[in-house]
Amino acid sequence: MDPNVILKAAIERQEVSAIEALMLMQQEDQVFNDIFQVANEVNRRTNQGIVSFTHRTHVNYTNVCRASSKHCTYFRKKGDKEAFTLQPEEVVAKIAASPAKNDVAIQGALNPDLSIDYFVRLVTAVRDEFPHAHIHGFSPTEIFFASRRARVPAREILAQLKEAGLDSMPGTGADILNDKVRKKISPDRIRTADWVDVVKTAHHMGIKTTGTIVVGHVENEIHICEHIEILRNIQKETGGLVEFQIIPHIPEPAPGAEPRPRMTQQQLMKLVAVCRVFFGSVIPNIQSPWSLYGLQEAVQTLSVGANDLGGTHFPQTPYYQGNTPKYTAPEILEKAILKAQRRPRMRDSVYGDAVTRKAAKTRRVAVAAR
Ligand code: SF4
Repeated sequence: MDPNVILKAAIERQEVSAIEALMLMQQEDQVFNDIFQVANEVNRRTNQGIVSFTHRTHVNYTNVCRASSKHCTYFRKKGDKEAFTLQPEEVVAKIAASPAKNDVAIQGALNPDLSIDYFVRLVTAVRDEFPHAHIHGFSPTEIFFASRRARVPAREILAQLKEAGLDSMPGTGADILNDKVRKKISPDRIRTADWVDVVKTAHHMGIKTTGTIVVGHVENEIHICEHIEILRNIQKETGGLVEFQIIPHIPEPAPGAEPRPRMTQQQLMKLVAVCRVFFGSVIPNIQSPWSLYGLQEAVQTLSVGANDLGGTHFPQTPYYQGNTPKYTAPEILEKAILKAQRRPRMRDSVYGDAVTRKAAKTRRVAVAAR
């Protein structure tokens, strides 16, 4: 098929199929100039030139993990010198010491010693201390693991966490939603059907999630297209995916990872553009996390379909501990966005308006008066 026919369909707001996305991915470099332009146009009409970012604190409650994913440098085995598990009050103290207390991301690993009671105490402690905050936490993998350990459905775990104050979840751990590939890169983790099931269950309960993909390891373009089609189908059913994020696998220094050259900026730009053409405005937000791509590189992707730069605050992330910057002030991201001739917007984890300090104070006063 002529790629121009696919691009014309995208401009005319018709759905691009997974096969058509695959065809676009396989085009020569010169065709990509047209794909970039169409992706930029689809993004412009979806997001009106607005580029968002979060001012969010990330706290990892444990790095003890039963799995050993090949792309992960974060996990430690129980008893390792660097293994840790934080008590709820320690998580609260970390948030209190952070410059971003209104939006909190809590993630960990598959620690067999942690019970549902621990997770509920953790969310309750954060909610009690920061009643105004948006709490974004626990990947589908963590929820699935906890449900298996407790022998209760994921729905029950999610219900308890929602009741305690959980607002939304990261859609991490999706890696590539193809079980053959998953078996190679993260054999101990959740299977595709289970990941999809937890995410859909969360959405049906009113807990929105993000959507992610990890690329640059052993996958091919067909796997990528299968993956984005699964995400789009979830979105059509539930409407609960607030964003899509491409996470490039960084070969070094993850132990046991296959040696493979790091994804180039051009490859990343092409993937962002095809994903924007594929998702259109069905998944309206494509995040380019500056902390993983580099600020300049992330800003470049704003011209090929991305509309979000990720967050300001990165003490740790489960995948790339040690490779990510610690913190950058909102003003720095705003400046970079303005320089790219876009309009900056600080958002919360589900793309609502960020809670400002003044609004947070008002909410604290209201909660205290109850
Ligand atoms: S990616 Fe998550 S589940 Fe996999 S080893 Fe790392 S911490 Fe564990």
